[in-house]
Amino acid sequence: MSTYKPYWDPEIETMPRDKLKAYQLDLLKKTLELCYNKSPYYKKIFDEAGVKPDDVKSLEDIKKFPTIDKKVLRERQVAAPDFGDLVCVPEEEIVYISVSSGSTGVPTASPFTAQDFEDFQDFEARLFWSSGMRPTDRYCHALNFTLFVGGPDVIGAQKVGALCIWAGTIPSERLLAIFKQWKPTITWTTPSYAWYLGETAQQMGYDPKKDFNLKKIFVAGEPGGSIPETREGIEAIWGAKVYDYYGLSDIFGACAGMCEKREGLHWAEDHILVEVINPDTGEEVPEGERGELVLTSLKKKARPLVRFRTGDIVSYTTEICSCGRTHLRLHGIHGRLDDMLIIRGVNVFPSDIEMIVRKNEDLTGEYRLVVTEEKHMAKLTVEVEHAPHIQGDTTQLAQRIQKECQSILGIRPEIKILEPGTLPRATHKAKRVLDLRKESN
Ligand SMILES: [Zn+2]
Repeated sequence: MSTYKPYWDPEIETMPRDKLKAYQLDLLKKTLELCYNKSPYYKKIFDEAGVKPDDVKSLEDIKKFPTIDKKVLRERQVAAPDFGDLVCVPEEEIVYISVSSGSTGVPTASPFTAQDFEDFQDFEARLFWSSGMRPTDRYCHALNFTLFVGGPDVIGAQKVGALCIWAGTIPSERLLAIFKQWKPTITWTTPSYAWYLGETAQQMGYDPKKDFNLKKIFVAGEPGGSIPETREGIEAIWGAKVYDYYGLSDIFGACAGMCEKREGLHWAEDHILVEVINPDTGEEVPEGERGELVLTSLKKKARPLVRFRTGDIVSYTTEICSCGRTHLRLHGIHGRLDDMLIIRGVNVFPSDIEMIVRKNEDLTGEYRLVVTEEKHMAKLTVEVEHAPHIQGDTTQLAQRIQKECQSILGIRPEIKILEPGTLPRATHKAKRVLDLRKESN
């Protein structure tokens, strides 16, 4: 039996929820005061909204404050170089910046003070510990180190006491050679890459279950890790358990992750206040229903975030987990607002299609959604690959998938069945949607 303690930080992780809320309220007030007194931009938008930090008497009062989003971060950074006027400390107190790849233009920096960075890595250690990482583990960090906020997370694994291998994003053959030689027990990558890497290993003649020693794979960056069918697909290749993590470049490399019970992703509510809202009305959505994730940092000093709209669609529960941890859990990341397709009035997330595709053993699990316009209406085609054991006519297979889409999603996309290996494989984040309507505009 393991002699290790069950929690990294027992007091915080199992704090009764009423006590946790009181603790959050105290931190929230301090954060809002810091923002109001030190950030010209926060002062301006709080004044415009007619709210002051003193107005906050309960956590509910956060709803009176204005929201911000990625666009605001980008605009303020351009307006007040180099780090924007949401920053609350002088530059000499900043020790680290992560930079997020701006798919829509200017890369934005997320600054940390020394204490912010220490808090960040202590929390990563807490998450790793909750997923079962122990000093007896060997951890291969296969995330990008270049400017990316997930890079430093390897330091959290070292705090746990695991033996850490700083691999980064290297060619698959080299990564597999590391798996073979040093036998790490845990690694971390995106779900689509975990899938791809497993297939690559098989093509190279490895048996990922026998030739390596991986027990756990942490995944983040795409909704796949929250989809049981995708997790099971990756687990079947590797013979390892998959744990979903959620990170945000503007807060921490990982802000939430699965404990060993794997019943949702635990948040760090002592670091981050979580709201879930209807993206159209801004109203809070009830527990269990889907809405946009909105975050307020509670301890960060360099650049606190107040009501940051993430664009990620989630649902959550505050029920106490069977692991004993009290912090709220996301049921999963269902997708990003940007990725949501509206097909004949129905909201469709690529993750919904992924669930259908990945549980079908007659398919390889790869897929792509192609949107075109037909008679001024959006038309969805789902491209999939049949598994190697399927020979000959695939009409019936296509009909079965179409039927399933209809019963689960309420739409009847056209299903195009391709040869195995035809669709482009992702090495990092998979591009799942090809919207041909935009190109013709
Ligand atoms: Zn738990």
